[in-house]
Amino acid sequence: MWKAWLFPGGLLLAVSVVMVSSSVFTLLAPSVGFYYVAVFAAGLLLSWRFNSSRILFSLLVLLLAHRAVEFFSAGQIRSGPGRMVVALAAILIPLNYIAFAFLRERGLIIAGIGPRFGLLFLEAVVVAVLCRPENSRSVAHAPGATLPLWVFVGFIGAAGVFIWRFVQTRKPMEPGFVWCLAAVFPWLEFGPVGKTADAYVATAGLILTASLIETSYMLAYHDELTGIRGRRAFNDALLSLDQQYAIAIVDIDHFKKFNDTYGHDTGDQVLCLVASRLSEVKGGGQAFRCGGEEFAILFRNTSAKEAFEHLDALRQTIQNSTFRVRGVERRSGGRAGESDRRKPLRKKGSRAAVAPPATGLSVTVSIGVAEPSTRNRQPEQVINAADQALYLAKSNGRNRVELASTTPTRPPKSKRSGAVRL
Ligand code: GH3
Ligand code: MG
Ligand code: MG
Repeated sequence: MWKAWLFPGGLLLAVSVVMVSSSVFTLLAPSVGFYYVAVFAAGLLLSWRFNSSRILFSLLVLLLAHRAVEFFSAGQIRSGPGRMVVALAAILIPLNYIAFAFLRERGLIIAGIGPRFGLLFLEAVVVAVLCRPENSRSVAHAPGATLPLWVFVGFIGAAGVFIWRFVQTRKPMEPGFVWCLAAVFPWLEFGPVGKTADAYVATAGLILTASLIETSYMLAYHDELTGIRGRRAFNDALLSLDQQYAIAIVDIDHFKKFNDTYGHDTGDQVLCLVASRLSEVKGGGQAFRCGGEEFAILFRNTSAKEAFEHLDALRQTIQNSTFRVRGVERRSGGRAGESDRRKPLRKKGSRAAVAPPATGLSVTVSIGVAEPSTRNRQPEQVINAADQALYLAKSNGRNRVELASTTPTRPPKSKRSGAVRL
């Protein structure tokens, strides 16, 4: 989780602060203009391509605010229109970011972008009126700090909103907004015009763009329902395996019956809870949802026997867990605020027949585990071996872990010689 905070936003801001405050900046200053244009061109293009009105309009707000500060301040930021425009930017940027976070994302259709453009237009008019010399002349000259304390408090409050949203959604876009505000603040506080200002604004834009890329990566590589890594991530992980590894295939027992009894929505919630237990497996195992109620766990540099111990502990943990589900009338996917639109498996008449018991629900899992051997050299073959071990676990009564045989090919003694029990 701390990784999501530091990378990429925190890192980009740290590099930027070091660059701007070091003597190297005088050498880099001529290229700041290029950095600025490149960031906003790439950011706007990507947000359009990824259909993210939130990032697109957040970049536009940043761009417009920067242009407004340059235009109205005319180099004078301590009093009059200059001070007024800096204060307005400091108020409006966090407010807009919060508004875009809570407005429903509708992509870049007219009904989605219309209200946002309307908001920006209204704000542009207000800023233009308030920054007219006759309206802002009375704004006091402020020695020392450019921004009053309450603006700083406002930034902290806005950051708090995004932190809260991250806790709810776990999307990397939220830390991106916190770091973006952390770049906007020094821009407005310490030097709203000039090359340093351009560098901070471009960095704020870069942080937003990077958070968009991170979010898209997460959507592509993580399973939407459970939030753990998905099949694509599993296939990628298989490409980078060393010689020693173990692959386990996990399947929930009698899950069809569970769905038929408690309903598909309850099933979905239990799936999420099981996934979170799987992702806590010890021994360095990485959990993936391969599809349906089947998961894979990958142990790098671990033998199947070592993995077996951790898997059996995991199996027991799941067996002993009782899962409390939310009201089944909520057609929620696993994560707060997201509805699950997949539902291909929901059958007519598969609504909850039985209300989940107040004491909670429990499920068990069967697991097959395998490692590379002379017979199974390729990851695909190891997966097949783990699959066979899983079938054996099922036919041996479920709620158990089976280890695939690693002995070289020899005539099978029994039908099930593909796997042995420990
Ligand atoms: P077994 O012990 O042999 O594994 O029995 P099973 O009923 O679990 O059999 P199987 O693995 O063939 O059935 C998979 C069932 O899992 C079918 C479907 O009802 C359920 N399932 C698959 N994907 C999802 C999902 O995304 N959500 C829910 N709620 N159920 C799912
Ligand atoms: Mg299955
Ligand atoms: Mg099953």
